[in-house]
Amino acid sequence: MSESFLPFSKPTIDEATIAAVGEVLRSGWITSGPKVQAFEVQLSDYFGGRLVRTFNSGTCTMEIALRLAGIGPGDEVITTPISWVATANVILEVGATPVFADIDPVTRNIDLDKLEAAITPRTKAVIPVFLAGLPVDMDRLYAIADKHKLRVVEDAAQALGSSWKGRRIGAFGDLVSFSFQANKNITTSEGGCLVVNTPEEAKLAEKIRLQGVTRSGFDGIDVDVLGGKFNMTDVAAAIGLGQFAHIDAVTTKRRALAKHYFDCFGTDFEEQFGAQLPVADFENSNWHMYQLVLPETITRADFMEKMMAKNIGIGYHYPPIHLFSLYRERGFKEGMFPVAERVGKRIVSLPMFFAMENRDVERAVEAVKSVLQK
Ligand SMILES: *Cc1c(COP(=O)(O)O)cnc(C)c1O
Repeated sequence: MSESFLPFSKPTIDEATIAAVGEVLRSGWITSGPKVQAFEVQLSDYFGGRLVRTFNSGTCTMEIALRLAGIGPGDEVITTPISWVATANVILEVGATPVFADIDPVTRNIDLDKLEAAITPRTKAVIPVFLAGLPVDMDRLYAIADKHKLRVVEDAAQALGSSWKGRRIGAFGDLVSFSFQANKNITTSEGGCLVVNTPEEAKLAEKIRLQGVTRSGFDGIDVDVLGGKFNMTDVAAAIGLGQFAHIDAVTTKRRALAKHYFDCFGTDFEEQFGAQLPVADFENSNWHMYQLVLPETITRADFMEKMMAKNIGIGYHYPPIHLFSLYRERGFKEGMFPVAERVGKRIVSLPMFFAMENRDVERAVEAVKSVLQK
């Protein structure tokens, strides 16, 4: 009787991509090779010719970005509490100190006034996150970074296809990190890429992703920096190439679905139900997610359970990072970032993926309204 389960996210892999992966598997070369190179060339074209290197996750991509920027022990890095924990973990991973600044209640991104207020003489970098694909005010961000001589590592994991005033995210700025994890707008199953500024940064990124090795001639080899095992495979890159062919269609479709969400919720939804819709940005956002902040009248767990009973999957992105045990141990506690704490407790992600139809949006909105009623 009830319609089939509607997940909150689902990848779409076309037959050509599946065939391309089969070809890689049959080719005898399945780790980093020609497909990775071709994918990096495509990405570079997309980002206006800037240099791009790929890795095996968006997380290691950000860690490598911090290393390229020379961030380490004694340095402070400012970020948002509302992100996937990876964003702060990479700061700890390089031995630096994470500093949080509260979010803007409307955009749910880091509040740039609070970011600026959190800068100290030890601050070396900032990691803004573009939650759900909505960028921060990029002019203001880079004005602050210039003024205080800070490096910027953009956590653009969710922002492939987003833009700022007509310029693509990734096509300008400092170090820009993307993820190709399965739920992202474009996937390689797992993976990431970094846009860098100079051939020297690209070279160092290549070294760090493969044990710090430099090869020369037939058997020349040296290791002069500490690297790890962060390279993307050709299997993953073949998926990425197949996915990337649809990037514009993906962004267009997501914008249309988001538009339909707003139309279905209607202009009186917020007032009637006490919930908060996202910023209706059809210029800059790639609509990686469509997120609601729930009213005080229902817990998120209760909401999720009731939506599940209606066969609709709900995600939550994200609980505040500073309240995880690992961060509490470092002195963070409740009350420090009140906006993030309120939003982090009440934010939910509604179904949003390429293969969705308008009818699915209508089902999701009907279900939200009926669960929030009473
Ligand atoms: C997905 C994501 C990451 C991590 O990317 P992985 O590829 O899963 O390592 C980091 N930050 C944000 C905001 C993300 O959405």
